[in-house]
This record gives sequence, structure tokens and C-alpha cells, in this order.
Amino acid sequence: MRDGFLPFALPSIGEAEINEVAESLRSGWITTGPKTHEFAERFAAACGVSFALPVNSCTAALHLSLLAMGVGPGDEVITTPLTFCATANVICHTGATPVFADIDEESMNIDPAAFAKAITNKTKAVIPVHYAGQPCAMDEIMETARLKGLRVIEDAAHAPFAEYKGAVIGGIGDTTCFSFYATKNLTTSEGGMLTTNDKSIYDSAAVLSLHGMSRDAWDRYSEKGTWYYEVVAPGYKYNMFDIQAAMGLRQLDRHGEMQSRRDEIAASYSKALGGCPALKVPRAGDDVRHVWHLYPLRLRPNTLSIGRAGFIDELRTRKIGTSVHFIPVHLHPYYRDRFGFKPGDFPNAEAAYEAEISLPIYPMMNDADVQDVIEAVLEVAEEYKA
Ligand SMILES: *Cc1c(COP(=O)(O)O)cnc(C)c1O
Repeated sequence: MRDGFLPFALPSIGEAEINEVAESLRSGWITTGPKTHEFAERFAAACGVSFALPVNSCTAALHLSLLAMGVGPGDEVITTPLTFCATANVICHTGATPVFADIDEESMNIDPAAFAKAITNKTKAVIPVHYAGQPCAMDEIMETARLKGLRVIEDAAHAPFAEYKGAVIGGIGDTTCFSFYATKNLTTSEGGMLTTNDKSIYDSAAVLSLHGMSRDAWDRYSEKGTWYYEVVAPGYKYNMFDIQAAMGLRQLDRHGEMQSRRDEIAASYSKALGGCPALKVPRAGDDVRHVWHLYPLRLRPNTLSIGRAGFIDELRTRKIGTSVHFIPVHLHPYYRDRFGFKPGDFPNAEAAYEAEISLPIYPMMNDADVQDVIEAVLEVAEEYKA
């Protein structure tokens, strides 16, 4: 057995990131400044999108997207139950009502038909989540949304530079929201980005991201000096700062190399585990470029004498860290109590949750680590064969 415990996730921070952060600290620009602007510009260019608003989290980007689209009390917003709670929490923050649509069993992404069925005359927007780094069926989602006059906010927390039918994610929906949290494919410790091709959405989100202070006022009243501003809405404190962007710039430089390692690990897992009858390995769709933020392995029902939790414990005793993505949002106490959701409401999401184990997948893993994960998984599957 391996010596040390293999964590489920670790950030990949090189000397370049460390030096760039040190340079920021020495420069005097420690809050939003030149590096934040450069990071946003480079990110927008890499996504092929007109505007990128750097913020302090993906949660902030999602919240600002909804606000910039005018979503509020009385409105409904549809999303998947198989996501991180932030996706649904931000809907609640606006006073709107979260509505869930079940997932497609194979991709684990929102099922476009279930989305279409969940639409009412109160629906204002949909938030498809590119689960694990695999883009949703965006053609179907966009077509339904346009037909019904709905806004589309992509939660791409898992999916920087993923591709849908040859297009990099970032400019398909009305906005796309990225996360640079510590465990994500690209990190700034904490951080996020909102991308859009819609100038009016960008302008509204930008003003709301910093106290509702209008930049137009600076232009209009420039004769009054740079100290003048006008507050046009009670905005938020969601700005990214240069220490974060310093890391982000150097992470962008290394993105291709980090992505290749994720691809290699995913391919190794699928090759080694795909033949085991107790396991269902994730498969990327033909028309997408999956970026493998997660490797969601699933246990096939009735093939093992232990459950998913037991399987995770067995991996832990073999010094392999894993996680589960996600506890379906509708099953959390707040959502049950406030909106009346209950087990059985979204059977595909619940079945996926009950079967899923996220294996470690990150660039810091070496070949021996990958081999250890494979051996541990196959050993447990063999030992507890039903
Ligand atoms: C991580 C995550 C978020 C939140 O990102 P933050 O940057 O931590 O706010 C939102 N949605 C999904 C699907 C995530 O995995």
C-alpha cells in the first residue's frame, strides 16, 4: 500500500505564481489594478468572448448575472439539482424561486427535455451546469430558451476552455460564470469570472460588482476630477484583486500543460476501470471537449455487497481520498423546508448521487498516484463483488 494519503484535490502552484504574487505585493497594487485587467482581457480572448468581468467568486458571477438580467421576486429560475448549492442559493438571494429539472442519466447534465417541461409563465432564466467539465446540450437549451424568451446563465465552474461543437465555452449563453476556487482547474485561491457578449449585461454587472458605483459618472463629470462617482444601485463588493489575478495570469500560461495531465489521468482511469462490471466510467460526448474537472465514477446497482459510502471508506483505508459530487440540492433541509422538495422528486439525480464517487484527478498527481487509485478501486470492487 502507498505511504502517504493521496488527497482528493490539491492546487497546482508553481514558482511562476509565487513570484508573480510577490511582485504584486512589492508593487503596491494589492487590490484591483493592472493585473486584474490583464487577466480579464486574456481570459476573454481565450474564450473568444467580448467582455469578461473579474469577480471574487463564481457565486458572485452567478448572482450578478441574475441581477443584471432583472431576475427578482416572483420569478422562477430553472437549474439542475446535481450541482453545488451556490447555483441554487444565488437564485434565492434575488428573491426568485429555484425550480429543478432532472439530469440526463448518461452525461449527468440537465436534461433539455426536463428543462423544457419545467418552464412556466414565471420562468425568467435557466442555469445549465457543465457538470464535471462536460458542456451541456447547449443547442437544445438555447433553442428552447430563445423560443420562450428566457435568459441563459452557464455555470462553467468546472469547465474553463471546454468546447461545445468546436466553440470554447464562454459566449454561448447570455453569460457564463467561471470559478477559480482552490480545487478548480484554474485557480486564483478564490475568484471568478463572468463572460458575456452583451454589453448592457456587462455594464450592469460591472456596476453592481463594486458598490453600484457608476463608471459613467467618472466620464460624464470628469471635469470634477477622479474623486467623483455616483451610486446608481445598492451594489455589492465582488471585485477581484491583483494578488488573485497575479496567480491567474501564471495559471493561464500553464493551462495547456495542466489540462493535458487531467486528460491523461482520465484516459488511464477509463482504460483500467472501464472493463470492471461493477463500475460505470464517465464518457465524453462526441460533440464536446470535456475538461475533466471531476472524474465521476459510478457503482452499478446490485453488483457489490457494499454501498457507495462503504466503498469510499475502503478507499480511505487504502489511503485514497475521494469525494461525492453532489448531494442533490433539493434534498438539503433548506430546500425541503422552504420549497417542499422531497426524495423521489428527481430520480436520475438521486440515483447518480447514490452511485457516484469522484476520484482524485489533478496535475500534481504522478503516474504512481494514478496507479494506486486504479489498484485500490479494482481491489475493493473485487473484494466486495456481490
Ligand atoms: C465551485 C462551484 C461553484 C462556486 O464557485 P465559487 O468560485 O467557489 O463561488 C458554483 N457552481 C459549481 C458547479 C461549482 O462546482
